[in-house]
Amino acid sequence: MNTSSPATIVVAIDGPSGSGKSSTSRGVATRLGLRYLDTGAMFRAMTWWMLEQGVDVHDPAAVAAAAHAPVIRSGTDPQAPTISVDSRDVSAAIRGQQVTDSVSPVSSVPEVRARLLALQREIIGAGGIVVEGRDIGTVVAPDAPVKIYLTADPEARAVRRAAEVAGTDVLATRESLLSRDRIDSGRATAPLTMAEGAHHIDSTAYTLDEVIDQVVGLVDAVR
Ligand code: C5P
Repeated sequence: MNTSSPATIVVAIDGPSGSGKSSTSRGVATRLGLRYLDTGAMFRAMTWWMLEQGVDVHDPAAVAAAAHAPVIRSGTDPQAPTISVDSRDVSAAIRGQQVTDSVSPVSSVPEVRARLLALQREIIGAGGIVVEGRDIGTVVAPDAPVKIYLTADPEARAVRRAAEVAGTDVLATRESLLSRDRIDSGRATAPLTMAEGAHHIDSTAYTLDEVIDQVVGLVDAVR
């Protein structure tokens, strides 16, 4: 069946923190010659800017009032994704612990989500892109022909995340992941949940290449 051309396909990859979304999404985009969008980086960039401006990230009204202001730009090359706020490259800064600890409360604010939703849809445009996040298959691109819900055991997720930064404590990383999961899954607006028609892949027992193969197979099946 040939329902989606390579130029317009949208692949939506959702799942909790540390499930392997970024590596999988970048790998799939690279293999298929598609663009790549990390929506988590956009929420992190918004959070970084709030912290930088001294906005109280636990005050939803203050966050909502400021959400229109930062200019956030995402580069979509899967081999070298970029993210900037007000023309400052924040790709390293958004991975810091303070941003990680504050991103879920900021992401729960509807004004933040509305602002970034508009930006995300603008970037997705006519398609040809792999988009990763928490609400891509449910809210951002519900018509995406391929939707993946990627999970892994909390232990596997914590070990993978901790390995990304030398000297990180696995137990503390596990707690941080689970705390973000609770907020992301429990919020009123666009909570993390499996989209209708999504394929669930539990990556715990698979290598990265095996997961990429599975997703590429699902994309090949619809085009
Ligand atoms: O993917 P990453 O772990 O970098 O995402 C950081 C945070 O951004 C998530 O914990 C979640 O609060 C938020 N997020 C979201 N919706 C998305 C992507 C990320 O709420 N589509």
